[in-house]
Amino acid sequence: MGLEKRVERLEQLAAESTEEPEIDPWWQAYYDAFDALLRTLSDEHAGLIIAEEEARRGHYERTGELYRTSKLYDRFHSLCIAQAQPQERRPRPFALPPAVCDVLIEDPEAEFQMGWCECADCGLSLPHKKSADLKLPGRPQIDPIFPTCPLCGGRVGYFFFSIKQQQRSIT
Ligand SMILES: [Zn+2]
Repeated sequence: MGLEKRVERLEQLAAESTEEPEIDPWWQAYYDAFDALLRTLSDEHAGLIIAEEEARRGHYERTGELYRTSKLYDRFHSLCIAQAQPQERRPRPFALPPAVCDVLIEDPEAEFQMGWCECADCGLSLPHKKSADLKLPGRPQIDPIFPTCPLCGGRVGYFFFSIKQQQRSIT
């Protein structure tokens, strides 16, 4: 199935689901976030997310068991979950740039941990790898995958955004 047909089908599903009288507001917020983030992706990455969403639903309907999702899907999903919680909204970009998608597809060692690898300027969370280098005792050993932020060019590192916010509020 082509991408356009898939998007059409997904929109149809979304339209059908909003016709139900009692859609939970949280799920509505989640689907709105899903749709908004999907529109920012490249055709290729959006196609992967849609294919996986279809496979995941189909698998669950057939077997009643959870589908083992990819890192790209997991990251996409957790950004949508965070966006769906109004109280959790922070002044951070709701974005999954193409370069980050590529890393999630290609690098099995890439992982996310809140704050461990973030842009000092815009707060975008970025993937890192566990580091074998033990020269900084007392903090997680990580290697950032991106030396600078693919969105804004800011410096990237361990709680860099939080530290900068704190420094701003002190001065
Ligand atoms: Zn940034």
